[in-house]
Amino acid sequence: MAILPLVIAPDPRLKTKSSHVEMVDDSLRQLVRDMFDTMYQEKGIGLAAVQVGILKRLLIADVTWRDEGGPGKQYALVNPEILESSEDPHIYKEGCLSFPEQFADVERPASVRVRYLDLDGKQQEETFEGLLATCVQHEIDHLNGIVFVDHISLAKRDMILRKLKKMKKQGYFDHDHSQCGHDHSHDHEHVHGEHCGHDHVI
Ligand code: ZN
Repeated sequence: MAILPLVIAPDPRLKTKSSHVEMVDDSLRQLVRDMFDTMYQEKGIGLAAVQVGILKRLLIADVTWRDEGGPGKQYALVNPEILESSEDPHIYKEGCLSFPEQFADVERPASVRVRYLDLDGKQQEETFEGLLATCVQHEIDHLNGIVFVDHISLAKRDMILRKLKKMKKQGYFDHDHSQCGHDHSHDHEHVHGEHCGHDHVI
């Protein structure tokens, strides 16, 4: 089990387009396992490789794990492409593991048809709906150097980025949880928990 360090905004890597994966091999499958470990640890439902500093067109998602008390239906999409988007919009209060504690309503198509390679390197096509559709579109955005705050007003975006800059300056993200012995799980529960009314971090 490996927990990878997250890239936190503002960071130029989050504005960079990730490159095509040439080969689905064991090292990529290992990266996917590490990304799932990291995502579950941080209580997210989706993660793009760029968020752990790997600029490859790879994303993972599991929007069901919370309900099942452990890993749920896991998706790993290599070189994903949106083939079709539905006309009907869906608004969801999004968060992002690269934007800790920040949430904003984002409107996206309610369903998308996506072509991708699976972890055997086989081409797949699938239609995603609901939360999974939102999640997959959020992660594909990451692969194109787009983040969820690019979909909201400039004023709100500036406010969020100012807050994160300040948190970075204060060393909020430098804290190594494993060494200090403090239990920060409560913080995560509060930030991302269902009880507080915030939505999922993707
Ligand atoms: Zn994100």
